[in-house]
Amino acid sequence: MKIVKFLYKNKETWGAVEGERVKIMEGLPYMCTRFTGRIIKLSECKLLAPANPSKIILVGLNYKDHARELGMKVPKEPVIFLKPATALNNPKARVVYPKGVKRLDYEAELAVVIKKKARNISESTSLKYILGYTCLNDITARDLQVRDGQWTRAKSFDGFAPLGPWVETNAFSSDMKVQLYLNGKLKQDSSTKNFIFSLEYIISFISRIMTLLPGDVVSTGTPPGVGPMQRGDSVEVRIEGVGKLQNRIS
Ligand code: MG
Repeated sequence: MKIVKFLYKNKETWGAVEGERVKIMEGLPYMCTRFTGRIIKLSECKLLAPANPSKIILVGLNYKDHARELGMKVPKEPVIFLKPATALNNPKARVVYPKGVKRLDYEAELAVVIKKKARNISESTSLKYILGYTCLNDITARDLQVRDGQWTRAKSFDGFAPLGPWVETNAFSSDMKVQLYLNGKLKQDSSTKNFIFSLEYIISFISRIMTLLPGDVVSTGTPPGVGPMQRGDSVEVRIEGVGKLQNRIS
């Protein structure tokens, strides 16, 4: 099932995409799925980022091929960091290139949305806490990341976490293509089979640090090929079995 959040009669509404139509849901999609019986056209929906996070947690380095590209050792445990909920951005929305930033990078990532409260969970049960899978672009002000020595400012501008276009509940396999296209040109092209830490491990690891709540977003790191964007660029994250997340830089 493809779960979408969208504006309907000026209200945030959830639904499930079936072909070109959307079945409207009652309430939030996290605990159970009930439908109102109303069906509308997908083309009439203004899609929103499909989550209500209290926090967005990301993994710093999680692809063997990216570690090789950077000449870095494979880490022994995940390096994680946060983006604030205010960084969330919608499919097709603009990403503002902040004034004073000299280098703004894309990072294509597979993300998951949490379904139910998760604390101290084991690897073997962790997938049960996931609503599904989506695309995230971990927009980064690379010059500020280098200058600050830590990542909060570089990763946290408003709109620096485009997410969507929907949450695919059936998608995950341990070998999904993760790609990024900049103005239609392929820039990142890898697979989740190159993960250093499995998704199960990452969810369990984070849940032993902070309680994961319904609607939280966990992003699994980016493959090789990160690079800069300019104002006017079109940037698209594509994940096999999930979908395409397109945004424009302005
Ligand atoms: Mg990243």
